[in-house]
Amino acid sequence: MSIYISFMPGTLHFCADVHLGKLAPLRRMLGFDTVYKNDWSKEDLYGIAKNEERILLSKSPYFLKFPDITFYQIKSSDSYHQLKEVIDHFHLQPSFNPFTRCLYCNAILEKKEKAEVDISLLPKTKKHFTEFWQCPTCKKIYWKGSHYERMMKE
Ligand SMILES: [Zn+2]
Repeated sequence: MSIYISFMPGTLHFCADVHLGKLAPLRRMLGFDTVYKNDWSKEDLYGIAKNEERILLSKSPYFLKFPDITFYQIKSSDSYHQLKEVIDHFHLQPSFNPFTRCLYCNAILEKKEKAEVDISLLPKTKKHFTEFWQCPTCKKIYWKGSHYERMMKE
């Protein structure tokens, strides 16, 4: 249905509604498979949740009326608290797997040697970091920077 979809066996799969745009990248940061697109309608979301057996995350109570999908209604409006809500609700702590998914396109990241990504790095990044990952789709490079530190603290 869309290029955002990818599966890892044995893990939970999610889809997030339009108001949770900040939550999806955070979840991907932790390695959870989350699909999200800002132009999906409620009907689209319902279809994706049902056909791909994904857990639907939304702040709207609209989806409570569908007994044939797994739905969790998000209460918080802060994206970090939203993430914590979902983690607590589904007991996801043991499945943390940071640096496995691209925050932008949900693709599985590839581990890279510093020399392979060297040309795209800022001098400061080059100096302070040793572990790198790259998205095979959009070519974005990841390392354990400030994002990661903040996330781990939260
Ligand atoms: Zn990407």
